[in-house]
Amino acid sequence: MQRLIDGIARYSNEVHPANQPLFDSLAHGQSPDVLFLSCADSRVDPSLITQSQPGDIFVCRNAGNIVPPSDSGLSDDGVIASIEFGVIALKVSDIVVCGHADCGAIKGLLHPDSLTSLPHVTKWLEWADHGGHQEPERAVEANVLAQLAHLRTYAFINEAVDVGSLTLSGCVYDIASGQVRVFDGTDFTVPNR
Ligand code: ZN
Repeated sequence: MQRLIDGIARYSNEVHPANQPLFDSLAHGQSPDVLFLSCADSRVDPSLITQSQPGDIFVCRNAGNIVPPSDSGLSDDGVIASIEFGVIALKVSDIVVCGHADCGAIKGLLHPDSLTSLPHVTKWLEWADHGGHQEPERAVEANVLAQLAHLRTYAFINEAVDVGSLTLSGCVYDIASGQVRVFDGTDFTVPNR
């Protein structure tokens, strides 16, 4: 905890003042254009990966970057509430679902016996999907595609996609190499710049 207190003091006294114009511009509102849904894993930092500034991306994180589908019975869950706010109120133009290598949620999905002491995780992973792949990397990719499909089970998302105001994308972050593979409609590949 002391490390956090020290970090906050350094932020408040040094980092924030050095970026005062940015924070002045953000003080009374946000208009991010991307909603970034990633895992809560400590090694996945959406702003760092995408080199985004405060105000750039609206971030939603949970174990396994999961979106329970509309028929999950979890209509009051925090994930879809955050996504609804992003799409309807903030009018983001993109939702990106970002999985990652070595994802504990997917490893748990592949090895349910490791989850016996984690009943809430076990329940939550009902909404994950490894697509029948036992190889972790493929399973992570399959889960990203499953969550993109879950997004389409919500009418407000479907309608925004259909009128062209919203795009859904999927990607997978590799922690060791720093590369991000993006789903191109067929496969996950590192895009050319
Ligand atoms: Zn993860």
